[in-house]
Amino acid sequence: MIETLLEGYGRFRERADKECYCSLCGCQHPHSLVITCSDSRIVPEEIFDARPGELFVLRNVGNLVRTDEPSVAAALDYALLHLGVKDVVVLAHTDCGAVKASKDPDHLDTDGLRLWLGEEYFDGADTEKAAKAAGLRQLEKILQYPVFRKLEREGKVSASLCFFNIGTCSLELFVNGNWVDPGSVSAICR
Ligand SMILES: [Zn+2]
Repeated sequence: MIETLLEGYGRFRERADKECYCSLCGCQHPHSLVITCSDSRIVPEEIFDARPGELFVLRNVGNLVRTDEPSVAAALDYALLHLGVKDVVVLAHTDCGAVKASKDPDHLDTDGLRLWLGEEYFDGADTEKAAKAAGLRQLEKILQYPVFRKLEREGKVSASLCFFNIGTCSLELFVNGNWVDPGSVSAICR
């Protein structure tokens, strides 16, 4: 609703870090590309506590990395080649409508949804397992993407897969074949 949005804009204007925005008005140097779902409950800037200018975000239904789609390829190319992001992160999540839709043919009732989700398959014992498996396939597509592969070989970029649990507000990170608490990874890195 535009009225609700404009009320929000009013609050944003009051609290916005105008110095931060001013410093960004002619350039951006995001450190990461986040590919996540259009789901209204997934807000990468909140989840990663990121400020304006930190994340280059691509959102679509189901956080799909369909590199055959110009909008996906353009975001990847721009983030990798022009912005020089250091990490590409796929952020999947619980209760994903794309996963549920693919399991219920009645939800794939429009050309748009069929065209977008039709080639993707979501398998798994439950929607969480299916969403995690789908996230892994998206990560694989990034790892196979020629522009990414070249930069990765040069040690300039890496790719990660995260899974956000809406109900518990918690994140899991896929590391060496396992889903782990990011806190344990930080401990390992230290
Ligand atoms: Zn989703």
